[in-house]
Amino acid sequence: MNLRLDNDPSIICAISTPPGKAALSIVRVSGAGCVTLVANMIPILSSVKPDDARRIYHDFALDSHGAPIDEITVIPYFAPHSYTAEEMVEIICHGGFAASRAIIKRLLECGAHLAEPGEFTKRAFLNGRISLSEAEAVASAIEAKSELALKAAARNLKGELFQRISTIRDRIADLLTLLEAEIDFSDDEIDKTSPEKIKTTLASILSDTSRIAATYNYGRGLNVGYKIAIVGRANVGKSSLLNALLQKDRAIVTDIPGTTRDIISEWIELDGFPIQLIDTAGLRESIDIVERLGQDRTKSEIENADLILFMLDGHEGITDDDLAIKNNLPDKSMLIVINKSDLKFNVETQHLASPKLRDKIHSLIISALTGHGLDNLKNEISAMLNIAGFDLSSALIANERQYQCITEAAESLTQAIDEIASNQSHEVLAVFLRDSLNHLGELVGETTRDDILNNIFSRFCIGK
Ligand code: GDP
Repeated sequence: MNLRLDNDPSIICAISTPPGKAALSIVRVSGAGCVTLVANMIPILSSVKPDDARRIYHDFALDSHGAPIDEITVIPYFAPHSYTAEEMVEIICHGGFAASRAIIKRLLECGAHLAEPGEFTKRAFLNGRISLSEAEAVASAIEAKSELALKAAARNLKGELFQRISTIRDRIADLLTLLEAEIDFSDDEIDKTSPEKIKTTLASILSDTSRIAATYNYGRGLNVGYKIAIVGRANVGKSSLLNALLQKDRAIVTDIPGTTRDIISEWIELDGFPIQLIDTAGLRESIDIVERLGQDRTKSEIENADLILFMLDGHEGITDDDLAIKNNLPDKSMLIVINKSDLKFNVETQHLASPKLRDKIHSLIISALTGHGLDNLKNEISAMLNIAGFDLSSALIANERQYQCITEAAESLTQAIDEIASNQSHEVLAVFLRDSLNHLGELVGETTRDDILNNIFSRFCIGK
């Protein structure tokens, strides 16, 4: 990886653990000369040589008068063997608010600066220790909402996505080198690579690129999660279903219509994927819910949902209100959930077959009260989100930025293939191949603009 020389020489420090009551807190310091700087307040570090690095030392952190601030353990690191690839110190002090803050205050007095959000990881990237996709995996790991999401992040942290992209880049670069070498010769001087051969090579590279791009379906699902909106008239059992799926009492359940006044959302895990369940409020009058479907918040929640659960009350049967609500729902993936199977059922199948409730819709019978049919419902949801039996066997495209880059690379490759069909010269093909290399370079951070980099790192927490 390239070593960039635009890194900041200053010494930065930050508390890397969340504030609040805890056993321990970690303060991090990075930058050339930081071991000497910290030795001003932690005397044992003054005798540490690079050979003694990455060992844990025990001492007291002292204030400017030499009085103890806290009893600590401390780990010195020397470049390039640290998280940032710079000289670093990690101070482990007592948790809570006071100790770590007093240590930061003392570090600032000694000449360190407060780190910006993500600055440690940014330095690791700028110093060439990790690629941009690995840096982004650090953020994904911190934000992981499920164990599977963490596993996917860990694969990218290990550099698996970087490796997959590098393999594609090498194949494009090899082809580009070949074409560029042939550009300087005329047809009678050498036997040029045939258009068919170039096309076959490009088609194989494109197919691998598209296969990686397609993993974003799962990468997005794991990192952002899927949204499911539970919609239906008052009292059909929306809150009860939410509670049954959560297996805890978060939403208020009552038999007085219209108790759920606002939108309630909760996360559950299904097949390892984080799923946000949204209970769109049930209001007393049927017209309210229809009107509400037109209101901004409910409307956008439903429009952004990956799946709608449209609930009916099987005991009461299908009413005009149900049909009115159904007619106001956007045209997207939907499961009809007929609730209250424990009571006498009054749903005639011909109602469901009525033109207004037909379409591509599956229907399921459940009882939110007894739990009947809930496993079936979960299986059906997994199938509709296409996550059933997902096997994390390779690195995934993890975010929108990476997806944009790889899609643009695939487009340039497609254009190159199209140019072969119209008999374009090697020069023209080379332009598109260079474009695709640039887009893949952006993905791993080698040709990424500074404003994009700043934007990525500013979303990290301080101390990471
Ligand atoms: P919402 O207004 O759609 O959110 O409906 P609620 O979840 O608040 O439920 C309304 C009423 O129906 C409550 O009294 C629930 O206990 C009851 N209820 C919900 N699901 C079932 C069910 O499967 N069977 C029966 N018998 N009652 C249910």
